[in-house]
Amino acid sequence: MDPPLGIRNIRERSALEVEWTDGAAFHIPYHILRAECGCLMCETSRTRSTTIAVETLSETLEPGRIGFAGTKALRIEWSDGHLSSYEWEPLRTICEEPLSIRLR
Ligand SMILES: [Zn+2]
Repeated sequence: MDPPLGIRNIRERSALEVEWTDGAAFHIPYHILRAECGCLMCETSRTRSTTIAVETLSETLEPGRIGFAGTKALRIEWSDGHLSSYEWEPLRTICEEPLSIRLR
C-alpha cells in the first residue's frame, strides 16, 4: 500500500488530515487516533474491555511530534508521553471509520 500523499496537523480542529494517493482525504480526530493506537499495550487493554476508553483520555491530548517510522508507518509522540505508530493499512481503516471525517 502506498504511503499517504500528505499528513497535516490541523490544530484548530484537533484532527490530523490525511490525504491518500487515490484522492481520498480525511480528518481523524486526535482522540480517535489515540484510542486506535496499535501498540501492544493499547491492543491488550482493548481486548480486555470492549469499550474504548476515550473518555479517560485527556481533553488536551494532542500530538507532540509527528514523524515517520521509515516509509512504513506514521509515528506520533502524544502530549501524554505515549508513543504510537500506525502502518498505512490500519491508518486507512481508521480514516474510514464513522468517527473520522471524510473530506473527499
Ligand atoms: Zn498505544
